[in-house]
This record gives sequence, structure tokens and C-alpha cells, in this order.
Amino acid sequence: MCGCGRHGCWETVVGLSALLRAAADPGDPVHDHGRDLETRLAELAARADAGDRRTLDALTQVGTALGTGAAVLINVFNPQVVLLGGYFAVLGRFLTEPMAAELRARVFGPDLAGARIVLSTLGFTAAVLGGAHVALEAVFDDPTLVPVAGDDGVSPAIGS
Ligand SMILES: [Zn+2]
Repeated sequence: MCGCGRHGCWETVVGLSALLRAAADPGDPVHDHGRDLETRLAELAARADAGDRRTLDALTQVGTALGTGAAVLINVFNPQVVLLGGYFAVLGRFLTEPMAAELRARVFGPDLAGARIVLSTLGFTAAVLGGAHVALEAVFDDPTLVPVAGDDGVSPAIGS
């Protein structure tokens, strides 16, 4: 069951909840939403680096499922790049190998049909930065579009 109410969504096997469920028992500190996510992910990475079998198996399981779904996307859309963001980028060094193995088995063309798997370097703020960029793109393209302060001395807000 997925958080969206349907069954069998990709998120149910690659989402953060799926990883945490596979990697640690319910009382484990990595499940504690009171701790920040970066800290919890760093803890998982440390366990994986230390060779903890359960953590490594969980990461392999998620990486494989990531490859299964990404193979469909590559076969349908033939992208040049598949960019992994969010927690995938943070734990990417553990996910890309099982993901690539699955992609090699499932993508129709040779060499992943030309697609490269890339890890985002923007961390968890990538979506916000992208949204801000889209909102400001017109201003960067033509700064004269920004209205100047009116006679009332009040600066109009961008986009107003
Ligand atoms: Zn869903």
C-alpha cells in the first residue's frame, strides 16, 4: 500500500520509508522523525561503510528496485541523463551499482541506450532551487521587466 492510497507504486519499494523499513527495526533511531534526515542517512551510510549486512542488503534491494523502474523510463523516454536527487543522491554510492546491474539487464539498447546515471549535488534543496529558478528565469533573461519603485516610494514585488 502506498501513501497515495493505491497499491504497488514505485515509491513503495524505493521511497525512504521502504529503505528505512528494510534497513532497521521500528525502534531504531534511523526511524526517529525528531532527528534530522541528514543525520539519519549519515548513520545508515556509516553502517553500510562498516559492512552491516542488513543495511547493505536494504540498499541493494532499493538500488535494484530503482533500476527496475528507471529501466522502464529509459526504454520509454530514452533520456541522456537519469539524475538521482534527494536521499538517492546522499546514499548514491551504495545504490548505483545494484541499480546499474538491473539497468544493464532491462534496458533495450547497449550501454544503457546512452543514458548516464548522475547523482545530484544539490541535496534536499534541489526542488526548491529549481522552483526559484523557474520563477526568476524571466527576470534573469530580461531584468528590465522588473518594475521600478513607484511614485509612492513602495517597491513593487517581483511578479506583481
Ligand atoms: Zn502511490
